[in-house]
Amino acid sequence: MSPEPLLTSLDVRKAAARGSVVSGAVELAKLPRLRELLASGEGEIEAQCHFGRDEENRSLVTVKVSARLMVTCQRCLEPMPLDVASENTLAIVGSDETARQLPATLDPWIVEEEQGALWGLVEDELILEIPVVAYHETDDCKQLLDAYRQPPETPESDGDNPFKVLEQLKPGATQQEN
Ligand SMILES: [Zn+2]
Repeated sequence: MSPEPLLTSLDVRKAAARGSVVSGAVELAKLPRLRELLASGEGEIEAQCHFGRDEENRSLVTVKVSARLMVTCQRCLEPMPLDVASENTLAIVGSDETARQLPATLDPWIVEEEQGALWGLVEDELILEIPVVAYHETDDCKQLLDAYRQPPETPESDGDNPFKVLEQLKPGATQQEN
């Protein structure tokens, strides 16, 4: 059962004043910057945004995202599922300048208009969470499994006569037969 879609945008300062909570599903097909980083368009994304104010009267949003996305394993180059879960609190600010005045512990979410684009916020959070390189677990990686399946490089040597090879290398060993 998939949840209702998340609102695409919202008056974020009003939401902060009210302490609103919105949640729902986000379509991967509508997040082109994220889609570019992935192996396929298959995936599920759910997000929850808690709005509020801090003691400095700043408008905040805590965004929790959970997703299952397909990335490319950099060892075998096959697609693999990646589960992502993130939680981040951002201060809603109107300009770069206000953003620079925030304490280092708070990331800015710059919303110049009244409406903040929630799907864009979720997309940004997911882009930060996607690892630059991803690998299958050892047991699932096609390349590693193929390597295990290959026959050993040297066949069992018949240990009876280790000098056989040396004899064949002796100069003139066969010519004496004439
Ligand atoms: Zn792999």
